[in-house]
Amino acid sequence: MIATGAWTNALLAPIGFSVAVEPQRGQILHIDMGETDTSRWPILGGTGEQYMLTFGPNRVVSGATRETGSGFDVRLTVGGLQSVFNHAMRVAPGVAQGTVKEIRIGLRPLSADGLPYLGRIPGHDDLVLATGHGPSGLQLGPYSGLVAAQLLLGEPVRSDLAPFAVDRDPHQNAYSGH
Ligand SMILES: Cc1cc2nc3c(=O)[nH]c(=O)nc-3n(C[C@H](O)[C@H](O)[C@H](O)COP(=O)(O)OP(=O)(O)OC[C@H]3O[C@@H](n4cnc5c(N)ncnc54)[C@H](O)[C@@H]3O)c2cc1C
Repeated sequence: MIATGAWTNALLAPIGFSVAVEPQRGQILHIDMGETDTSRWPILGGTGEQYMLTFGPNRVVSGATRETGSGFDVRLTVGGLQSVFNHAMRVAPGVAQGTVKEIRIGLRPLSADGLPYLGRIPGHDDLVLATGHGPSGLQLGPYSGLVAAQLLLGEPVRSDLAPFAVDRDPHQNAYSGH
């Protein structure tokens, strides 16, 4: 199985196959709220492109940027930081007294049409590809992993995989939700 995220095309290059997946940088802020118990605080969405969530016992996570066209550039940028701090302060001004614990940076594997690539690679039936999950891979990844395992084991797959075909033309289904 090939599930190498934003780096997938580099791994596929020797067999002359590629998919329309590019890295999309995300910068995300982790705040330590000191003695405040954040473990039962809700996830906040619907506040624009970014969101806020918590980890116990006292951590708040806010972000993240969605920087399409970033390439494999994993720098922490002034504009990115401004964006995540502005969002955090607008949504929950009380975090102003929190401590900046860390800023993390990741590269999402963003497909051109917003859909994952999931299936066997034509001409290489022993290779299953699972990538292109973009901003939703933490939620979708476990199911894609199940499907990929079923394909590899020759077990029946209950989902229609046609929309996720690895050899589809991604430009027929342009995605505007990046
Ligand atoms: C800041 C941020 C916030 C996010 N928030 C959410 C969220 O709230 N909800 C959500 O659903 N998703 C979220 N995502 C998206 C999610 O993280 C991705 O969709 C998901 O990680 C993609 O999983 P993946 O396994 O395909 O790729 P990755 O997680 O990128 O894993 C690919 C792995 O392959 C390895 N690799 C690459 N090349 C090779 C090679 N040649 N040999 C061996 N290994 C290799 C890499 O080192 C990497 O470990 C977020 C992403 C970011 C950056």
